[in-house]
Amino acid sequence: SKTPVGFIGLGNMGNPMAKNLIKHGYPLILYDVFPDACKEFQEAGEQVESSPADVAEKADRIITMLPTSMNSVEVYSGANGILKKVKKGSLLIDSSTIDPSVSKQLAKEVEKMGAVFMDAPVSGGVGAARSGNLTFMVGGVEDEFAAAQTLLGCMGSNVIYCGAVGTGQAAKICNNMLLAISMIGTAEAMNLGIRSGLDPKLLAKILNMSSGRCWSSDTYNPVPGVMDGVPSSNNYQGGFGTTLMAKDLGLAQDSATSTKSPILLGSLAHQIYRMMCAKGYSKKDFSSVFQYLREEETF
Ligand code: NAD
Repeated sequence: SKTPVGFIGLGNMGNPMAKNLIKHGYPLILYDVFPDACKEFQEAGEQVESSPADVAEKADRIITMLPTSMNSVEVYSGANGILKKVKKGSLLIDSSTIDPSVSKQLAKEVEKMGAVFMDAPVSGGVGAARSGNLTFMVGGVEDEFAAAQTLLGCMGSNVIYCGAVGTGQAAKICNNMLLAISMIGTAEAMNLGIRSGLDPKLLAKILNMSSGRCWSSDTYNPVPGVMDGVPSSNNYQGGFGTTLMAKDLGLAQDSATSTKSPILLGSLAHQIYRMMCAKGYSKKDFSSVFQYLREEETF
């Protein structure tokens, strides 16, 4: 039988990802700061620990799936962090979307302990997390990639090596900036069409067979009732939080500044998502930008 894998952070993404590891026969050793997140796993017979350090004591391969850079630092380097009890030769994979410079810093600290760190942020959303079809963008020492691929392949259909540690994050930040822009664009187009008298399902069908088609229109349409099984048809619950999208656009802003790159629409998208956070949308899925626009009227 397979040796256990540690999993820390069992939220919207971590929950279905962990379930796919179980499906592939890996016993799990789990931790989440919010105890309710571990409950269903505990009831299913998986082992739940009370700190990241305890997970590291029992598992020599650990996946972390946390909201922000600050949370990753806490889980790795905090008072009861992984580094307090990490075993030599352990493989630590952080799938959170965080600042690439923080990934590099964590990699240095992990290396000092004789273990290996890789950044492996994901794309695909909760649907792909459930079906095991995520895309992983992996940064780290190339010789360790095969070991990471074995685990990540249980949760994703695309596991891509990007280069040195931090480059997975760099790729992910570009993807999410484009996603933010395409989601706002889709929401504007759908709102305009509906106000112009078009049936939303018909308009989505037309866009999806035309040149405006994108993931935001054909896989994650932001208009309630157009598609089943997406956050827009569930009062924008679950999915990818507006605060998390605002965080990723902040990361894009940082890399744009340090590389002197123009990101005009990326910056505008950042402002729109920050404004939504302040107006009560922070816990809703980021496709709620449609609802935000629908409630606005301009002169
Ligand atoms: P989430 O907020 O739903 O889940 C995060 C989990 O981490 C929660 O259960 C929380 O309790 C736990 N957590 C927070 N701090 C912790 C700590 N110090 N120790 C232990 N557990 C802690 O977030 P999510 O949507 O699952 O996203 C996780 C990461 O993946 C984020 O970086 C996000 O940007 C990225 N991401 C999300 C999606 C998506 O569609 N939701 C898609 C791709 C990437």
